[in-house]
Amino acid sequence: MFGSHLSTAGGAHNALTAAESLSHETVQIFTANQRQWASKPLDPAAVEAFRAHAGRLGFTRIVAHASYLINLAAIDGAMWEKSLRAFAQELERCDALGVTDVVIHPGAHCGSGEACGLAKVAEALNVLFDAQKQGRVRVCLETTAGQGSCLGCRFEQLAEMIDRTEHKERLGVCVDTCHILAAGYDITTTQGTEQTLRELDATIGIDRVRVWHLNDSKKPLGSRVDRHEHIGRGCVGVPAFATICRDPRFAAVPKILETSKDPAPDGRDWDIVNMELLRGLAAGQDLQPAVFKAPRKKLAAKPKPSKAKPKRHPVKKVGK
Ligand SMILES: [Zn+2]
Ligand SMILES: [Zn+2]
Repeated sequence: MFGSHLSTAGGAHNALTAAESLSHETVQIFTANQRQWASKPLDPAAVEAFRAHAGRLGFTRIVAHASYLINLAAIDGAMWEKSLRAFAQELERCDALGVTDVVIHPGAHCGSGEACGLAKVAEALNVLFDAQKQGRVRVCLETTAGQGSCLGCRFEQLAEMIDRTEHKERLGVCVDTCHILAAGYDITTTQGTEQTLRELDATIGIDRVRVWHLNDSKKPLGSRVDRHEHIGRGCVGVPAFATICRDPRFAAVPKILETSKDPAPDGRDWDIVNMELLRGLAAGQDLQPAVFKAPRKKLAAKPKPSKAKPKRHPVKKVGK
């Protein structure tokens, strides 16, 4: 199941119609401005339009990405409470829209230490799930690149957060290929990817993987820097994407592109170019990223090749 992160500008349903025109089977959206704390309540007409389009398209899985401001691991009490409020509203918006999965970066411990941060995340999830017993959207903790004090760069950290949460049935994980490479998981080869999947299964469990973020990485293995690159064109490379896309255990898992939207050098939408590669790999084809030829320049009239005998190499003058 393939999709990409798409804009909701002009109404949330616009992401669905854009997904339709790209032949996606799923989509990821922001349900509110991801860089602001305050969010307006959803307009009932917008909710209705979104649900109608989702139904028409037969989308069984729709993903949202929570605000980057939320920090469920915050040691500062006011920040933690603000984060909880914002995430509670996010969960409500997701349920209203029929979003099945909401991806969130677990948070940063900001110096309080890993153990403390992990405990705060679990506590936050327990409070949220207790307050919304009828909530349906699954919270997917995302693997992170491990920048600064961000938690979630080791599978064990996500496993521990899940372990400490009471309502485990409401939790899943989102694995981002760019982030795990940056965090030090060597998925640059088929064998490395298979090994990483075994580690994922042994720690978190493969069936907890509710969402994949398929992004290549501009930065190398272990860099701890999160910079997305187009599929097969970065430090992750084709083998990892082939392995993940061909794995039957992930066939029904949304695989979301979060790569830049500028037009590709051939003028097509980058999502189309990346998706073509992913779908081809999923179908078992042995593919490499399309090579874009440099735009053809008008060539100045070249002298016609002379039919005369090739000249001998000029002899270098030795001396002064
Ligand atoms: Zn991601
Ligand atoms: Zn990222």
